[in-house]
Amino acid sequence: MEIVIASKNKGKIKEIRHFFSNSLLPQNIREIKWLSFEDFVGFPDVDEGSESFTENAKLKAQQIAEFTGKTALADDSGLEVDALGGNPGVTSSRYAGPDSTDEKNRKKLLSELREISSIKKRCARFKCVMVLYSLGNDFINISEGVCEGKIGFTETGENGFGYDSIFIPDGFDKTMAELSNSEKNGISHRGKALEGLAKFLKSKTNAEKNILTGEQND
Ligand code: IMP
Repeated sequence: MEIVIASKNKGKIKEIRHFFSNSLLPQNIREIKWLSFEDFVGFPDVDEGSESFTENAKLKAQQIAEFTGKTALADDSGLEVDALGGNPGVTSSRYAGPDSTDEKNRKKLLSELREISSIKKRCARFKCVMVLYSLGNDFINISEGVCEGKIGFTETGENGFGYDSIFIPDGFDKTMAELSNSEKNGISHRGKALEGLAKFLKSKTNAEKNILTGEQND
């Protein structure tokens, strides 16, 4: 079975593939082939106009399923910082403006928090909504995950992507970018949303496999 990851974000794609390579998952789940934008010519950029992670993820999953003709998984995620009234939120990937990069976004965020010297007042959380869309069957699974933490004062660590190097998950004294792929998936917003997705896939792959591929019931 093939599912397309509806994203051009290599960090997300790596984490999703890593999650499903876990040898503790049933064989039929591990055998799912996770396709990406690199497997298709002209893979579109989906416009994320909505104020909600769920609506954005639905939009991405449906549009990519329609473009590829295959079941699609979308991840919409972002960072909410309490001291910034929940920003950057759904605008996390483009926080520094039209020519945003992960580095520019991190620098902007650190600069906005420069007056806040107490780590206790730098509370934040990553949120992730994952939507699976199957042609002919609509939105067949929606799962969510949240990871609470604090925004550090400097960038530390090389792994991960986005805001990982400035986010210190609760219970840790290092940033998300200092964790291995397995450690991050074990505690992250994405890892939690993927747990929900895996539960759904486990329940469907035998008896109702056709709902995943979009094939019609006889
Ligand atoms: P999206 O493509 O609109 O879902 O953008 C998600 C953005 O949120 C990314 O570009 C990152 O800036 C941020 N983000 C989401 N998940 C993570 C994560 O796991 N680590 C670091 N940054 C993340």
